[in-house]
Amino acid sequence: MKIRLSKSSISSNEIYAVTKVLRKEYLGMGAEVNKLEQAIRSHLKTEHEVVCVNSGTAALHLALEGLGIGHGDEVLVPSLTYVACFQAISACGATPVPCDIDPKTIFLDAKDAEKRITRKTKAIMPVHYASSSIGMEAIYELASIHGLRVVEDAAQAYGSKRNNINVGRAGDVICFSFDGIKNITAGEGGAILSTDRPLINKIKDARLLGVAKDTEKRYSSDRSWEYDVFHQGYRYHMSNIMAAIALAQLERIELFRSKRSRLVDHYLTELSNISEVKFLHFNYDEIFPHIFVIKCIDRDGLREHLTNLGIETGIHYKPNHLLSRYSVPYSLPMTEAIYSQLMSLPLHYDLTTEEQAYVINSVRKFYGK
Ligand SMILES: *Cc1c(COP(=O)(O)O)cnc(C)c1O
Repeated sequence: MKIRLSKSSISSNEIYAVTKVLRKEYLGMGAEVNKLEQAIRSHLKTEHEVVCVNSGTAALHLALEGLGIGHGDEVLVPSLTYVACFQAISACGATPVPCDIDPKTIFLDAKDAEKRITRKTKAIMPVHYASSSIGMEAIYELASIHGLRVVEDAAQAYGSKRNNINVGRAGDVICFSFDGIKNITAGEGGAILSTDRPLINKIKDARLLGVAKDTEKRYSSDRSWEYDVFHQGYRYHMSNIMAAIALAQLERIELFRSKRSRLVDHYLTELSNISEVKFLHFNYDEIFPHIFVIKCIDRDGLREHLTNLGIETGIHYKPNHLLSRYSVPYSLPMTEAIYSQLMSLPLHYDLTTEEQAYVINSVRKFYGK
């Protein structure tokens, strides 16, 4: 028996949708991508424009570059995040400045970030860690005082709310990921949301090698031949195949949400009497949980115990300032203290009640409960 930490959930809907695109023999970026962008807008009830790309990392990269961030600029970012954030910043030629977190929520600590602002600081990248963004207001306040742009890494938060508002309905620039294990998947994929029209137009060109106004052509199954190029561009567009998968996933999203929430509620109830296990301070009624993270005593011992029982677990994440490429001459005490306690337990749509009970009992047994 092997219980996976996370996985995609693919039904006959997705298979049928992909087959339909394959049979049309128009696989690249076309009408399906336009359809997905409009579907996301209506699903999130947002006035923000939506641009889909081929990964969440590409979304972060294009958002930053679209804001004009480049060589000599600095971007504030929590160290405790996926390396995608750091690579997206350094891909622009800018320097990621790792910041500490609030240990209760693992959200970027605005006070620590403020200390690291210099004349070179251009933007701040708060991360919706484990789908939660409690603390975001302080980040926007800081950004407005210091004239910084905000690029939200909401890769883990599609379908979540904060203060009863959908993530992606408010805010400067919001980036989602649709990679294989995220709340909904496009196989791989991502999206950028913003009301900043010049930024959106720049990103629309940049995802298609900078070919000016190619997006509209592609949506009518055409392409530009007599074109001009103004900016650096990339091959970051989404394909019709990917969009078809995500559209089919969107139709099942309420099933995904209720199942994942139910699993999290069950973990919270069943593990609450183990004193060695602590939970993060989230508003679990508002988040659409991508991962379930606990803080625990003897994390490595527990992980080994679970691995031996066929239960896959995860560590989200190794702090980026401890990586060779992104090391800094200062320490981040909260991040460093919490890192060795963090562990993610299996959470995905296809996890059965029996499997979850086995995970819970195995954690209990390790602590002698
Ligand atoms: C998944 C993820 C990304 C990157 O998205 P990809 O689609 O995998 O490129 C960025 N940040 C966080 C926090 C993520 O979880």
